[in-house]
Amino acid sequence: HNHIDHATVEKVEAAIAAKDIHAHLPDYQDFATYSAEGGYEKLAELRKSGDAEAVQDSLLASGLRGLGGAGFPSGRKWSFVRAENGPRYLAVNGDEGEPGTFKDRYYLERTPHLFLEGMLIAAWAVEAETCFIYMRDEYPAVLEILRREITALEHAGIVASGYIDLRRGAGAYICGEESAMIESIEGKRGMPRHRPPFVAQVGVFNRPTLVHNVETLLWVTRVLREGAEVLSGVEKNGRKGLRSYSVSGRVKNPGVHLLAAGSTITDVIEASGGMLGGHTFKAYQPGGPSSGLLPASMNDIPLDFDTLQPHGTFIGSAAVVVLSDQDSARDAALNMLRFFEDESCGQCTPCRVGCEKAVKLMQAEHWNQDLLEELCVAMGDASICGLGQAAPNPIRLTIKHFPEEI
Ligand code: SF4
Repeated sequence: HNHIDHATVEKVEAAIAAKDIHAHLPDYQDFATYSAEGGYEKLAELRKSGDAEAVQDSLLASGLRGLGGAGFPSGRKWSFVRAENGPRYLAVNGDEGEPGTFKDRYYLERTPHLFLEGMLIAAWAVEAETCFIYMRDEYPAVLEILRREITALEHAGIVASGYIDLRRGAGAYICGEESAMIESIEGKRGMPRHRPPFVAQVGVFNRPTLVHNVETLLWVTRVLREGAEVLSGVEKNGRKGLRSYSVSGRVKNPGVHLLAAGSTITDVIEASGGMLGGHTFKAYQPGGPSSGLLPASMNDIPLDFDTLQPHGTFIGSAAVVVLSDQDSARDAALNMLRFFEDESCGQCTPCRVGCEKAVKLMQAEHWNQDLLEELCVAMGDASICGLGQAAPNPIRLTIKHFPEEI
């Protein structure tokens, strides 16, 4: 594979052979600390005498939406799954493979029990028989924290042994797509399924399955413990709620910044300490490579669900990458398509062949705009899943906003 640095691979393999690789565990809030501060009281209260409908209403009132990228109202999913006959499952999507996204890792390395309690509340609401956590294998510290803290939950009698089944992903971006993740949990090659049927009806091992992103479940706990206002009480630019932006690129302080959901790129850059010295803001990726690039002139759009659709893009998992005058939008777009070419699962032609052809066309000195646009239509219309459907975004937005570069 021509993108692999073989010297690094050899070094890593030697270190593994010498057993010299350990997960560095950051300081995090463990079970003892979390429970001493009232953790798991909400779960116990709900298990004793809770009303799942009322819990669902609180989530809807808070405006909480799925934070893995799709933005589906969180409470509503629960009734779909509960309407199906058991046994039912819960599957947590912790694959976090969207380049530039690291918010789930950030929270899991700090407050894993806010997530675990939210997961157990959701599992209680849909009477899930097992909770699968599908976790990115490139997060060794997170895996170790989860192993330890799940054991602590078992010892405390909060869950039966084996109730939480921690699975490791194997580095395939497509396994972050929920139905491909389910295939992978079942032990198969991770390839997205056709829908319908939806995973709420036919999910893990063909059983109704509630799928949530890690951060969403953390907010389930916070909304139920602190009240719906923790989200609905924050308002900015006509938008409600909070958004965890994973910020990287040419800013002084890259990292996860929790800001009002109505924040613009100007606010996000400001929260990141401003632009790096010697760099002038030129363009930004609002939500992962599938969202393409917008120019610096479009700096007044709230970076939230729904607000970017009129501009041909979306917020996704809020992975913001800031580019400067020293970066080429055209090169960035090509890099995005190379990534999709590598990560396409290959089961449908418009995506498998489309990404490959797009990369070839984008490598030419002058882009063949007509051909690229025709290709974008075929990929967007005929691909099975979001990877192939959204892969044209970087192409279309670069043609529209950076014509001088192509
Ligand atoms: Fe696989 Fe791409 Fe088709 Fe999705 S769009 S199913 S990733 S080939």
